[in-house]
Amino acid sequence: MTVDVVTFGCRLNAFESEAIRRRAEAAGLADTVVVNSCAVTGEAVRQTRQAIRKLKRERPDARVVVTGCAAQTETATFVAMPEVDRVLGNAEKLSDDAWTETRAVFARGAVDASTKAAVDDIMAVRSGAAPVIDGIEGRARGFVQVQNGCDHRCTFCIIPFGRGNSRSVAMADVIAQVRRLALNGHAEVVLTGVDLTSYGADLAGAPRLGTLVRRVLAEVPELPRLRLSSIDSVEADDDLLAALAEEKRLMPHLHLSLQAGDDMILKRMKRRHLRRDAIDFCAAVRRLRPDIVFGADIIAGFPTETEAMFKSSLDLVEACGLTYLHVFPFSPRPGTPAARMPPVAGHVVKERAMRLRTLGDALLTRHLDGEIGHERAVLAETGTIGRTEQFTPVRLTGGASPGTLIDVLIAGHDGRRLLAA
Ligand code: SF4
Repeated sequence: MTVDVVTFGCRLNAFESEAIRRRAEAAGLADTVVVNSCAVTGEAVRQTRQAIRKLKRERPDARVVVTGCAAQTETATFVAMPEVDRVLGNAEKLSDDAWTETRAVFARGAVDASTKAAVDDIMAVRSGAAPVIDGIEGRARGFVQVQNGCDHRCTFCIIPFGRGNSRSVAMADVIAQVRRLALNGHAEVVLTGVDLTSYGADLAGAPRLGTLVRRVLAEVPELPRLRLSSIDSVEADDDLLAALAEEKRLMPHLHLSLQAGDDMILKRMKRRHLRRDAIDFCAAVRRLRPDIVFGADIIAGFPTETEAMFKSSLDLVEACGLTYLHVFPFSPRPGTPAARMPPVAGHVVKERAMRLRTLGDALLTRHLDGEIGHERAVLAETGTIGRTEQFTPVRLTGGASPGTLIDVLIAGHDGRRLLAA
């Protein structure tokens, strides 16, 4: 009789799910499933609803609580679902009182639309405090929240309406959390947030992300590997670049929020960079850290995107020398300005996403080819799968124990993963 958490979306959700389970159990909830949802695309919300129906069929007596960004931005959708017993906002999901109240609501018997939801205005949240966790169950890599929310308003993005405005976790709390995960056996920790490069803007002295990275590495010598989740390259600070150049324990892998390769489209997205900035950033970091690899998010078929503008995105992928491509077919998010712009035809969006993915596959293969014959340090995620410092997946042979760092010789690849000798 426990509380299970089903997590969708980003690493920040994965971090929070650990804290959610603790709080729900501490409140005395049992036979309850919490769905920590994502709203980044329409597909993510559809999958959340589908998962709720499936788990209710499989566990008809279990109580279902929905939280996360889809619950925050589309509360009415989930209140209307008969399978759902409770809807909690993104702030409420980490509040002990909200879980105690949820227990009380369930104890009172059947729930109705008037008692289902506890979702407050996320824009009113000011505190950057993050829950403290001991580890991420079943995961070799630990995630640490350093920031939440976002002050930008990219025209396609619903995240600020799910997560609120940007707020940072105090540096001392981040360092203590990283140390806790390292001492609890996590050989790698990923610093995560919503808009990571805005870290510190709301803290005294306005420390930047690079300052935080330096302090974490200096004050947690026990940690072998530190990784960053997605960053906005145009907001990367000099200290971060210096840390990339000098700190071997900072992993040579950056995931960039690039979104498009055409300047007019970037303007219509209200992004803060132009294609030249992205290309120059990758070249500059590559000079500082030659073994760096880049991943990036790219949207295919943003409203008004012409074939020529799309070709600029394809060209940018090559010009930046990207290795991992996360392709997002444009998904109009309710209430965002881009949802009101003249759309690109659905079949064209699909076709462009397919062309980007094909290019991405070719670039990944080029990277995998270059790894053969090299010895690589790998974090074993399971007995048979691990990842290199560059975040490249590796199929292991020897039955390594999850969470350990091992050196392997790369003997080949299968187009998706490296193969250890
Ligand atoms: S920076 Fe833009 S894309 Fe990223 S979370 Fe903020 S609004 Fe969304």
